[in-house]
Amino acid sequence: MIPSDILSLTQEELSAFLAAPGEKSFRSLQIFEWLYKKSALSYEAMSSLSKGLRLQLNEQLPFPVLKELQRHASTDGTTKFLWGLSDHEMIETVFIPTEKRATLCISSQAGCKFGCQFCASGIGGWKRNLTTGEIIGQVLRVKAAMAPVAITHIVFMGVGEPFDNYENVMKAVRLLNSETGFNIAARRITLSTCGVVPGIERFAKEGLQVELSVSLHAPNDELRSRLMPVNKKYPLKELMSSCRIYAEETNRQVTFEYILIKDLTTTTKAAEELAGLMQGWLSKVNLIPCNPVDEFAYTPPSREEAFRFKADLEARGIICTMRTPRGRDVSAACGQLRHLVKSSSSGRA
Ligand code: SAH
Repeated sequence: MIPSDILSLTQEELSAFLAAPGEKSFRSLQIFEWLYKKSALSYEAMSSLSKGLRLQLNEQLPFPVLKELQRHASTDGTTKFLWGLSDHEMIETVFIPTEKRATLCISSQAGCKFGCQFCASGIGGWKRNLTTGEIIGQVLRVKAAMAPVAITHIVFMGVGEPFDNYENVMKAVRLLNSETGFNIAARRITLSTCGVVPGIERFAKEGLQVELSVSLHAPNDELRSRLMPVNKKYPLKELMSSCRIYAEETNRQVTFEYILIKDLTTTTKAAEELAGLMQGWLSKVNLIPCNPVDEFAYTPPSREEAFRFKADLEARGIICTMRTPRGRDVSAACGQLRHLVKSSSSGRA
């Protein structure tokens, strides 16, 4: 089945589509250039195409609807976008510039069904999968909005679970990576999963050099099941074994995201258990001080406690980094994404 929006198509699919009504297939390359190199966000802008073709494409292969409802700029330079989709669902995308890179954090689903007990994205429940075009559309729209600052990295760490929308996400990854598409190196794309084991196993066989992050967040089944209900379906033993297989098959390091919650995930026992899970294979831990979410009572540890936990892991031979929270003032930080934005800063209609 041919997808019904232009940004869900590969160049080959677009060629096949254009070939049918007698259009030459080099047109597909021309259109891809307009989309991915010249940042055209409508057919109107594609001045080298005939008016007739533009009208026809607009009818048969429209752009996915991503209406900018709000844009919030944090004092730290992070910008959060809220988009309205064709069925009025809403999603968010976060642009995070630093000195050396600019990372775009994109959503893969409207809502989330996994209900992690520290994350705002699951509170309103799951609505639907995003199409490939809605995923790509986030990237192209922010690219145009933020130019001339270029997006250097893309992380699937917005709302939703990428491995619960496997096909659409994988197609988006390939389009982002392809030379005629967004043309970003696979190594600069990160997929993050809450631990959907069949997804990790399938992903290991894709032959892509994409980064894999796993939201681990707790070092034993008892605590992990409490914080992340997905652990009841895919407990730690299965999860870790699928990650090891992934590391072996791809020869790539797996990053484990680990949330720091005061007095809960930062104890010495937790460090010992976590180190036990990591020892002896290609992995590293990214520590994330938990970001406040109104509905949940968890608080981050003090800076001192956080670094004590990090040192404790390092003393056990574990490679780890500490994530600096970004965009907390506009609820754009990890786990704070939801479609209702408490608004004091400049909203856009
Ligand atoms: N569903 C995928 C993609 C979302 S990524 C996944 O779970 O990996 C969003 C990241 O932010 C995940 O690592 C998530 O666990 C983390 N996160 C969620 N709530 C958070 C909070 N309150 N503080 C810090 N990180 C949080």
